[in-house]
Amino acid sequence: MAKTTKTKTKKKNANTKYIFVVGGVMSGVGKGVASSSIAKILQGRGLTVTAIKIDPYVNVDAGTMNPTEHGECFVLKDGLETDQDMCNYELFLNIDIPGINYMTTGSVYQAVIAKERNLGYGGRNVQVVPDIPEEAISRIKKAGEIAEADVVLIEVGGTVGEYESILFIEAIRMMKSETPDDIGVVMVSYLPVPGSVGEMKTKPTQHAARTLSASGVFADLILARSTVPVDAKRREKIARFCNVRPENVISAPNVESIYDIPLNFEKYHLSDRLCDMLKLPCTQKSDLSEWKRFVSKSKNTKDTVKIAVVGKYFSSGDFVLSDVYISVLEAIKYSSYKLGLKPEITYLSSQDFEDKKNLKNLKKYDGVLVPGGFGKTGIEGKLNVIEYVRKNRIPYFGICYGMQLAVLEFAQNVLKKKDASTEEINPKATDLVIGVMDDQKEKIAQGDMGGSMRLGQYPAMLKQGSIAQKAYKTTEVLERHRHRYEVNNAYVTEIENAGVIFSGKSPDGRLMEIMELPQDVHPFFVGVQFHPELQARPLDPHPLFTAFIKASYESK
Ligand code: GLN
Repeated sequence: MAKTTKTKTKKKNANTKYIFVVGGVMSGVGKGVASSSIAKILQGRGLTVTAIKIDPYVNVDAGTMNPTEHGECFVLKDGLETDQDMCNYELFLNIDIPGINYMTTGSVYQAVIAKERNLGYGGRNVQVVPDIPEEAISRIKKAGEIAEADVVLIEVGGTVGEYESILFIEAIRMMKSETPDDIGVVMVSYLPVPGSVGEMKTKPTQHAARTLSASGVFADLILARSTVPVDAKRREKIARFCNVRPENVISAPNVESIYDIPLNFEKYHLSDRLCDMLKLPCTQKSDLSEWKRFVSKSKNTKDTVKIAVVGKYFSSGDFVLSDVYISVLEAIKYSSYKLGLKPEITYLSSQDFEDKKNLKNLKKYDGVLVPGGFGKTGIEGKLNVIEYVRKNRIPYFGICYGMQLAVLEFAQNVLKKKDASTEEINPKATDLVIGVMDDQKEKIAQGDMGGSMRLGQYPAMLKQGSIAQKAYKTTEVLERHRHRYEVNNAYVTEIENAGVIFSGKSPDGRLMEIMELPQDVHPFFVGVQFHPELQARPLDPHPLFTAFIKASYESK
């Protein structure tokens, strides 16, 4: 876990092939997971695969977007803030992906404008077409070169025909006209089965294929998402009207878990289709054995472990939004499966614990996790929860804000610093045990909130014999960060003298990365300044999550 991947020297792979995945009919039908699954099955054929996501919005990155609107923000190793699809690529492929593999309309325009201002176009007229698609193409090719990829998979966000994604569809057309044999286009479509007729309808897919062809791009393969498998009759119909071969209409019915999807694709020999289509240099027959073992483990668990996740972003109108903490939830699952356990995860809104009477409900859970967060909302409730689980010896795992608040709770209730706070909430408090880092102060003063966070991978040195060190089984780790504030150094000695162990620190000792309580005081009370969930993978669960789940189960 948290290992560095080898930095490869750039090599131009003349044979790199590119598979674009576009959406037909509507969004929200699992195009991202389908793309990750395609990448996975090609990896299972012995190919070197990398994956790119193009988001058509104008935001330069996903960092400034509200998580209730756009889901959790994912952070790549090099610090780029992206959407969840990049996370899926890393989960499925079990590789670290660099920032060049993520682009938005905003980031592409930003690069073109910067180049133009720098006289990079030699004084000529810079135009939307071809200069914008060309910038996208150059990034796609560069990403392939860096990864020395046999195949680059590129998911274009949105659905065909949308104004927003048209320049990226144009990029596909331009690439295909240049090297037609190297480019494949997969359209993930949706086939509704209206309750009133009870029959699967192909018409929306026919329209989507037609819309795509109006942009000069033709789908080579159609993934037919639906509640049920596509039958032979409809397969023929889609093939005839959408101009693809019948064997290139692949059924993609709903499945129990997203992790079944690569296996399901292979039931329909999707990797064979793609390999034939693009003449890919496969070195082996499909081998997804490790993945299959993970899927079967996830379905054959014995006991349960009950985990409460206390957050603030769980509700939107009448809906519960678990997507906001998706990496945390998935990380809990991977570690539980590894231990042969079935996690029962309950989302609790921190505001409910502003009333201390509700705290006793926490007794029902084997472990409590407070994930990352920003701002004032719900922090009173979180502090009450942390005090309760600390005193009642319920296993606790605090991530980022969950660690800062654990330090703050300790300062308020153990060190009796009643006016202790974090600079984020009350900059005028007497004891700012959590404060803004000096390096970031200047950026915030300039109003550059988007650029004022510590982002991406940084090292931490672990204290020998601590819970963290025993879990990682090493003394130096690299973990991904996304935060503005840090434990204030001025209070570290006082906090340590009162019983907290800072078991992970930056190599220069200035930044507190992990805090914990000794195990004779509490079975598992650990807070981390970084986001371990960003490096938890199905085939490589995160050791700290595993330690937390194990302690929770054992404290039942
Ligand atoms: N709000 C805190 C900070 O910015 C924690 C951030 C987080 O939890 N991701 O430092």
